[in-house]
Amino acid sequence: MIHLIRKIQIQITPTNTSNTINLINYNCRQLQQQKVNQNIIRNNNNNNINNFIIRGSQGNHSLYHSYSTSNKSIKTDNNNNNNSSYFKSLKNLYKNIIGDQEMDTTTTTTATTSTPEVDAMKVENENNNNNGTESTIVSIKENTTTIQYNSKNEVFYNPVQEFNRDLSIMMIKLFIEQRNKELADKKKPPKKIRILEALSATGLRSIRYAKEIEGVEQILSNDIEEAAVKSIEKNRDLNGVDANLLVPNLGDATMVMYQHRDPLKQFDVIDVDPYGAPSNFLDGAVQAVAEGGLLCVTATDSAVLCGNHPEACYHKYSSVPLKGDFCHEMGIRILLHTIETHANRYKRHIVPVLSLSIDFYIRVFVRVYTSALECKRSFSKLANIYSCVGCGSYNIAPLGIIEEEGRSIKYKLPILSKFVDSTNCKYCTKLLQVAGPFWNRPIHDKEVCKAGLKHIEDHPNAFNTCKRMFGVLTSAYEELADVPFYFRSDHFTSVLHTSTPPVATIRSALLNAGYKVSSSHVQAVIKTNAPFDFMWDIWRTYAKTNPPKNTSPTSPAHFILSKEPTHKIDFTMHPQAHGETPSVPKYLPNPKENWGPGSRAGKKSAESHEMVTIAQKRKMNQGKYTKDKKSRKDFSHVQCPSMVNKGECTKGGNCRYSHKTKEELEKENTATELNQTEQENKV
Ligand SMILES: [Zn+2]
Ligand SMILES: [Zn+2]
Repeated sequence: MIHLIRKIQIQITPTNTSNTINLINYNCRQLQQQKVNQNIIRNNNNNNINNFIIRGSQGNHSLYHSYSTSNKSIKTDNNNNNNSSYFKSLKNLYKNIIGDQEMDTTTTTTATTSTPEVDAMKVENENNNNNGTESTIVSIKENTTTIQYNSKNEVFYNPVQEFNRDLSIMMIKLFIEQRNKELADKKKPPKKIRILEALSATGLRSIRYAKEIEGVEQILSNDIEEAAVKSIEKNRDLNGVDANLLVPNLGDATMVMYQHRDPLKQFDVIDVDPYGAPSNFLDGAVQAVAEGGLLCVTATDSAVLCGNHPEACYHKYSSVPLKGDFCHEMGIRILLHTIETHANRYKRHIVPVLSLSIDFYIRVFVRVYTSALECKRSFSKLANIYSCVGCGSYNIAPLGIIEEEGRSIKYKLPILSKFVDSTNCKYCTKLLQVAGPFWNRPIHDKEVCKAGLKHIEDHPNAFNTCKRMFGVLTSAYEELADVPFYFRSDHFTSVLHTSTPPVATIRSALLNAGYKVSSSHVQAVIKTNAPFDFMWDIWRTYAKTNPPKNTSPTSPAHFILSKEPTHKIDFTMHPQAHGETPSVPKYLPNPKENWGPGSRAGKKSAESHEMVTIAQKRKMNQGKYTKDKKSRKDFSHVQCPSMVNKGECTKGGNCRYSHKTKEELEKENTATELNQTEQENKV
């Protein structure tokens, strides 16, 4: 449908009156689309796009600039400004947008009224905005779908979430397949599904669902903003999607879900993808999803779920998070806990299919079933964690215990001493913190992960993010199902102030002793079913040949290392030491630069019209963030001054300096550099 895009318009509105253009004042929402636009221009250079307009104003003057792709010239309506820094900035911007193409910068003086491009733009303004204020149409192409939206309407589009949309399309396809199989087992014919997208914004996701998923009866594409609903309708028609297949709906998402609680009206798939916390929508969602239906939930407030604001996490998710190595998995498990407790109120329960922490957000896919008996088991599926503030060792205690003997089922409270040895840490004597509750059952369905991997292998070009999807699904598939949480390999060594052995060495020690090890889809870590008794013995043994220097007699390191290991640790390299599929790249970065959650859609103020990129925010903050980051990074490779001077440091694992020796640091820095070069070569 790309032939419908006639032009790309970039609006630039400097707010200062001087000739110097402050890049920060550009309308950044459009600038964020630069790369997308660049591709559209490149792909259609000789076909459909004839020109695009950059419009700017300086003081009382309004300047129009148009770029013609046919003769590659820039026109401006004010010749006097051609050599101004404003014009120079613009030329650079053009180059940025057009890419490395040769650009003829001939300028022509034209009166505003006689520039056809400007006229065209004015017509669009009139069409799109009755009160006559400026508006700009932005076109975006993602996979099969092109959407246009009006920047002034503040309809929200986030290109970074393409992975989320790709993944969701595949998950819904797999759900349809699986459910049709389940129906066939019951000797029933396959059924087409009904989807609700509760918060549709531009409608891009719904339109992609309509175009890319087979076996869909209807998609209800809901938004609370009238402008969004109009945009969904327009984009649906633009993409040639049947009006009966995709039905735009103006409404409060919660009300729409409450109106579909009747089993005859329920949706087979409900997608809740809000800006921020999904908690407001869960009560409606767990009721409006059909029996065995698929609930897809996004939470973009990972900072809250991952422990930065425990009080906010409690009032939103009814659970207290724990900061630390595994905070992202904790966030996933808290979200699952919240969905489960909402479902339980209506005699329903969840079965997680795939639960991921990606970039800045958490995305879970769960199936929802009705069963009063399963609801009684719910409290045994949830647990609290008791975690040591000194060394990070932890115990997990369920909220409830189920004892089954023959036909009798007893529901009991846990006896804490069965799960936690004392209120102080058994290993380092420091105090324990309690957090939770969280979901303490598997977070992925392995069979679905496997089916997903096969789907990508069969359709390697179906999505732009196939490679990343394959990596994430592979690591989710390999994750140990019955082990919540994980550690980074440097966790134990930062507690003990020893050097860090290679991950393969630690994995070998665990595998040689018969324990299971995996990584996590979140990052390269160690997830194992080995108890802490054994874990600490690995490091006690390792520390015998790599002893830490000058540990304070009150430090966790001192207490842990003062005990002799009771297990024999075998560091011989194990064949599985590098994982099951070392050749599959698993932790691919987000392809877009400076990705982030973007800004919330809304009609708040003129300020909110400007979506500022993270890079620009950094500029505005005068490099505050980069400086901070740099200095932190530097300190982690600098020997701790109090260790050097006094031979001890009271900050222990929380110290921002390194507690390693000079030699170790040098060795490590060279290793890191080598590693980076290796990574770069791979990419
Ligand atoms: Zn401890
Ligand atoms: Zn220190």
